[in-house]
Amino acid sequence: MEDHFAFLLPIMMFVFGCAFLFAWRWGARNALPWGAGYLCAAIAFCIPVIAPFFPTKFWALLADALFATSFFLYGQGIVQHVGVRGFPRVRVAGWGISVGLCAYAIFGSQSLRLELSASDLGCFFLIALPLCLMAVRMRGGIDRALFAAVTLVALDNLVRGTTVMLTTPSDRPVAFLATEYAFLMQVLASILGPVMGLTALAATILRVVADYQRDAFTDPLTGLLNRRGFWDTITRAERKGRAQACIVICDIDHFKRVNDAHGHAVGDRVIGAFAAMIRDNLPSGAIAARFGGEEFLVHLPDVQPDEAVRFASAVRQAFAREDWTGEGIAHPLTASFGLAEFRAADLSLEAAIERADLAMYEAKLAGRDRVRIMKSSTAQDRDAVTARPPLRLVR
Ligand code: GH3
Ligand code: MG
Ligand code: MG
Repeated sequence: MEDHFAFLLPIMMFVFGCAFLFAWRWGARNALPWGAGYLCAAIAFCIPVIAPFFPTKFWALLADALFATSFFLYGQGIVQHVGVRGFPRVRVAGWGISVGLCAYAIFGSQSLRLELSASDLGCFFLIALPLCLMAVRMRGGIDRALFAAVTLVALDNLVRGTTVMLTTPSDRPVAFLATEYAFLMQVLASILGPVMGLTALAATILRVVADYQRDAFTDPLTGLLNRRGFWDTITRAERKGRAQACIVICDIDHFKRVNDAHGHAVGDRVIGAFAAMIRDNLPSGAIAARFGGEEFLVHLPDVQPDEAVRFASAVRQAFAREDWTGEGIAHPLTASFGLAEFRAADLSLEAAIERADLAMYEAKLAGRDRVRIMKSSTAQDRDAVTARPPLRLVR
């Protein structure tokens, strides 16, 4: 029975190690320590199989050192996943004490029980410390699943390490694979190893997907949502039911002149500063997005028009007050704002956005540096701003 496990485990661990390394090659940074950890475990599980052919005590020490290293690396995978350093020196010291005690047990006291306890309790420490750090930093269900799987592995080591007197004969020499301890270890490793591996792999890959999604939805220059991110956020909010809202569209005035006179890099910094002013004044629950070059859209849910006007005016005044001499711009810069209310009668949010866009265009026509509100969407409103090119509203 035990021989089957003895052959199965290195292969299983090796497959997981390779899967993690593939994930790492595809951009999952946290997958590297997990992959290295599983490969170390694969080699360590080979040792009881090959050791009888070349009898030397060093095999035992090598296996202990590899298991300690694999648990150190699993711990590293966990701390990297939750984004902390995770006391690396303390963990290296734990590794050293565990392997040192194993060496003493093998070459000094010749006690298999001491060796196995030192190895298991060392592994327990190397994974329990990162687990404690993870406990207060979990994000979402997959993190909780990983926490649960690693907790089982930690408990397995703790229980095995504290019950060696029940599972292992007191004296060497003893064929390791013949002990109850080895059987228990292999059965539990063949269950818990894949459980932990699969959850860690899922957590690592989901993190990469989430990172890509965040990048796809974020405007890199301003850190605000981009057009795709805006519609994704709105669509998810709409699933919970449509709420009354106000839409504000803002556009920096004569921005082309800034670019032409001072260069694109200065223009970029002006866009970034304007976005920061929007963010600073944003009420909680509101969504701001960069919709075009120097054009921004703000969705203010459950906000009445007078409050939306206060928000737009605050951003307008902050921008107009800003001193740009540090950028070589001697005159103040301004922006125009259009505002519309989204009501139950509106068929879609796009209708309100179109009205806000018309209002913004009115603000431009009326002399710029002002906030205009569109009260209705009648044909007369449209006629008033016939020159306005249509706004791209593709979701
Ligand atoms: P108006 O007051 O009517 O809005 O005039 P404007 O010059 O601001 O408007 P226009 O749409 O003619 O010019 C917008 C300029 O914004 C043109 C484009 O080169 C520039 N632009 C678009 N995206 C970026 C960007 O990412 N960085 C910089 N620096 N400029 C950009
Ligand atoms: Mg402009
Ligand atoms: Mg524009």
